[in-house]
Amino acid sequence: MGNAGESWDDEYDVVVAGSGAGAMAGALAAASAGLRTAVLEKTGVLGGTSAYSGSAIWLPGTKVQERAGIGDSAESARTYLRALIGDGTAAHREAFLETAPELVDFLEQDPAIEFEFQPFPDYYDAPGRMDMGRSFVPLPLPAERLGDLAGLVRPPVDRDRAGRGHSASKPLVQGRALIGRLLLAITATGNGDVRTGTALTDLVVEDGEVTGVVAATPDGPRRLRARHGVLLAAGGFESSAALRGERGVPGGAAWTMAPDGANTGDAITAAVAAGASTGLLDQAWFCPGVLTPDGLPAFTLGFRGGLVVDGSGRRFANESLPYDQMGRRLAAAEGPFHLIFDARSKGLPAISVPPVALEEQVASGTWVEAGSLADLAAKTGLPAGTLAATVERFNGLAAKGADEDFHRGEDPYDLFFTGGKPGLVPVDEPPYYAAEIVLSDLGTKGGLRTDPDGRVLDGADRPIPGLYAAGNTSASFTGPVYPGPGIPIGSAMAFAYRAVQDMRR
Ligand code: FAD
Repeated sequence: MGNAGESWDDEYDVVVAGSGAGAMAGALAAASAGLRTAVLEKTGVLGGTSAYSGSAIWLPGTKVQERAGIGDSAESARTYLRALIGDGTAAHREAFLETAPELVDFLEQDPAIEFEFQPFPDYYDAPGRMDMGRSFVPLPLPAERLGDLAGLVRPPVDRDRAGRGHSASKPLVQGRALIGRLLLAITATGNGDVRTGTALTDLVVEDGEVTGVVAATPDGPRRLRARHGVLLAAGGFESSAALRGERGVPGGAAWTMAPDGANTGDAITAAVAAGASTGLLDQAWFCPGVLTPDGLPAFTLGFRGGLVVDGSGRRFANESLPYDQMGRRLAAAEGPFHLIFDARSKGLPAISVPPVALEEQVASGTWVEAGSLADLAAKTGLPAGTLAATVERFNGLAAKGADEDFHRGEDPYDLFFTGGKPGLVPVDEPPYYAAEIVLSDLGTKGGLRTDPDGRVLDGADRPIPGLYAAGNTSASFTGPVYPGPGIPIGSAMAFAYRAVQDMRR
C-alpha cells in the first residue's frame, strides 16, 4: 500500500482508475459537478473492452425506451431481474432501477451524448422479458467531432489486434462512439484530466480512509490525492492467467475478448491490500469464440446454420442460446468444440467480432474444409461414426423443422437472427467445414464487494471510506446470470454514477 503522510504529486477531487464506460460515466458525473477529476488509463488508449463492445446499454425505464414507444418500465424490469436473480441483491437492483432514468437524463442533457433504442431480445424466457429487448446504443460519432482526441480512443478490435491503429476517415460506432462521446463531454467540462499510460498500482490509506492513489506514469511513480474519493473501474482480471487459475474462472486469459494484457485485476488487488472483500470470483460474462488466424477468438452470436459438437462428436446444447448461456454449456462439456457446417448454410454466425470471412479462415488453415464428413472427421480428429450419426440426426430434425433434442429455434432470441425461422438448416451439401470454437468471455464479473452506492466493503461489510468500485472491478449484482444485452455496461455506468453522487454528499 502507498505510504501515508508523504507529499502529493498532484491533487484531484476524484481519481478514476480505468477508462471503460463505467469509468468515463463516473468521471463525467464528477467533472460536470465541478470536481477536478483524473481518469487514469494504464494503456495508451481509452475505452478498454467497452470500446470493443456493441455498446448496448441495458438501463430500463428511461426516456430512450419511452421515445421508442416500446412499453418498457422499471416495474417490468424489476419483475424480470427478480425472476432471474432472486432477491439476494435486491438493494442493488433497486438502486440500479432507480438510477437508470436519472442517469440517462443526466447523460442526454450533454450535447455530446445521444442514444437510440436498438432491438435485441432479452436473454431469458421469464416474466417481464421484452422480446425485442429494452437496450439502447449511442449514435455514431463523426471522427471530426473529436478532432485530435479521436486518436485517444481504442481502435476497433480487428485493427487493434493487428496493430493497425485508427482509420481516421470512419465515424466512431458502437463502443467507440460511447467512449468518444463521453470523452468529448468530459473534455468540455474543463475539469477532466485524462492520463493515458498511467496505471494505478496502489491505494493510499490514511487513518482507515482512502485518500489517494499511487500510479505508474510515463514519468515514474506519482502520488495523486483524491479529496472526495477513488473510483476503481479498471476492468476485471480476465487477462491474468494466474488469477483466473487461482479463482477457477473457466476459459483462458488467451481467449478473453478484452484488449491484450489490459485487465489483469490491478485495481482489485490494490483494494484487497487495503482491506476490501471480494465475491463471485469464479464468474465471467461468457461467450463462444470462433478461432481466427491470429489464434485469438472472435466473439460469435446468432448461429444461423450448422451445429456445434463436443469432443465426442455429439451436440450438447441449443447452438442459438444467448452467448453467456452457450459459454456456460461449453464450460460444462468436453472439447475440443467445432461448428460443423456445409456449402449450403455457409454456417457463419450473424455477428462475429472481429468479422470473419470463410475463405480467409480456410486459407489460413484455421477452419477445416473437406469433401465428405468422413474426411472432415479425419482432419479434425473427431470420431467419424459419431459425427456422421450426429449430422444425420440433426438433418432429420431440420427436415421436421423442430429441434426435439435441444429446442433450437423456439425462443424469440433464437428467431431474432434467423428471420423468424428456426435456423435448422440440413448439413448435407459438400464441401463440409469445421470451425473450432473456444470458451471466450467479455470480462470477468467477480471482484470487489460494494454496497448499492458503489462503496467498497471490507470483510465485516463496512464501507471503506473514500473507496468505490464499478464495472468488472466489482462483483456484479447479477450473480452468474446475464439478463440481457447491455447489462455489463449499463450496470457499470449506473453504479459509477451512484458512486460519484455518494462522493458529493
Ligand atoms: P473495460 O471496458 O475493459 O475498461 C477497463 C480499463 O481499465 C481498460 O482500458 C484497462 O486498460 C484499464 N486498466 C486496467 N488496469 C488498470 C490500472 N491498473 N490502472 C488504470 N487503468 C487500468 N457489454 C454491454 O453491456 N453491451 C454490449 O453491447 C457489449 N458488447 C460487447 C461486444 C464485444 C465484442 C465485447 C468484447 C464485449 C462486449 N460487452 C458488452 C461486454 C463489455 O464491453 C465489458 O464487459 C465491459 O465494457 C467492461 O467494462 P469495464 O469498465 O469493467 O472494463
